[in-house]
Amino acid sequence: LAREAWEARFEPAMTADGTRIEVAANLGNTAHALDAVSRGAEGVGLLRTEFLFMAQADMPDVATQEALYREAMDALDGRPLVARSLDVGGDKPLSYWPLPQEDNPFLGLRGIRLALTRPRVLRDQFTALVKAADGRPLRIMLPMVKDVAEFRAARRLFDEVLAELGVEYDHEALQLGVMIEIPSSALLAPSLASEVDFFSVGTNDLTQYTLAIDRGHPQLSAQSDGLHPAVLRLIEMTVQAAHAHGKWVGVCGELASDRQAVPVLAGLGVDELSVSARQVPMVKMHLRGVSMDDARRQAQLALQQPTAEAVRDALETSALETG
Ligand code: PEP
Ligand code: MG
Repeated sequence: LAREAWEARFEPAMTADGTRIEVAANLGNTAHALDAVSRGAEGVGLLRTEFLFMAQADMPDVATQEALYREAMDALDGRPLVARSLDVGGDKPLSYWPLPQEDNPFLGLRGIRLALTRPRVLRDQFTALVKAADGRPLRIMLPMVKDVAEFRAARRLFDEVLAELGVEYDHEALQLGVMIEIPSSALLAPSLASEVDFFSVGTNDLTQYTLAIDRGHPQLSAQSDGLHPAVLRLIEMTVQAAHAHGKWVGVCGELASDRQAVPVLAGLGVDELSVSARQVPMVKMHLRGVSMDDARRQAQLALQQPTAEAVRDALETSALETG
């Protein structure tokens, strides 16, 4: 099976009845972009740019960042790059950006909230990304957005940068979107969907904040399951809002490479899955093995269950029944 997946890695992932779902790679190092392409990735669905910053001794300037982003864009050779703006705080410290002592850092200054306290940093990052793309497909996404006000604040900086560079914001090659990883943003997806270009669901944080379980908790990790029906309902709301406004939705958390979750996410209408590079061939293969009718049926079955455990049991039983 693994061999079959590997041999077909460069083929697009079509469900058994011909619906195409893009499979991209998550990246924390731009030097790995070429490897992702060689494993069949159709783009980068999540570049965790904070890892590039962590590898520097000090805040990288525009030129330093531009060279790194260009390395990824060159390797992708026309495939889209989804770059996440700096996501510092919580589980992602940055030595040269000291944060205040907080009782609950996961509920504190982090993600876009933190980035907006230093607009210069965000503007420099936008500048470096747009310059490196130079017209090639670039999607910038903002982490930990809780509502449209934060999106608008970042959008203002983005517009200033584009005006400065004389670059047109065409909503095609150049897109600005948000991550859905806080329950409020999923619940308010209709108001966000009219203003953003796309959503990418970060199921790691979305699960953490929906279930109130620390994503790295050693004793609770078994309960921290993105196939929980509460998380799935939030994803369903997100996809429906996006599609009602003609926008696309990706999933870039761990759930996107979970064998049981892949058909469920397809059935919920997700347009793109972004997974670690080595999982790309297998995720494509799982998508090829299911029809959209069956995927929708699995999604509905999952949504109706009361717990994550019940979701996994129900999906397993239905797989055995349909052979
Ligand atoms: C997520 O939260 O699901 C996500 C993809 O981002 P990270 O794991 O980097 O927080
Ligand atoms: Mg996250």
